[in-house]
Amino acid sequence: MRLVELAAEKAGQSGAARVVAVHLRLGALAGVAKEALRFSFDVVCQGTGLEGARLVIDEVPVVVMCPRCRTERVLGQVLRFCCPACGTPTADVVRGRELELAALEVSDDAPAHC
Ligand SMILES: [Zn+2]
Repeated sequence: MRLVELAAEKAGQSGAARVVAVHLRLGALAGVAKEALRFSFDVVCQGTGLEGARLVIDEVPVVVMCPRCRTERVLGQVLRFCCPACGTPTADVVRGRELELAALEVSDDAPAHC
């Protein structure tokens, strides 16, 4: 997964000793299942600097722009592309498609003696 490689790269650039957690933003329309993402993360991280890091997934709801209210509206669980306030159909998706690296939690602590 390119995203995980990107995270590893960024962690390396920051010079951090250890990545504690990787935060991802996952839009409801990204077309990726959370479970699949976790699985690939575990697989890709093995043997890298990210091994043992937690994967934190921030789920992003679908937000559309209603042409009538001229307001951004958050769609509920059911993906009907209508404004929840006035019912006007809209396909103008503002957020909800993203799959991106949100943040890296790193630790500069020296590893414990062993
Ligand atoms: Zn509306």
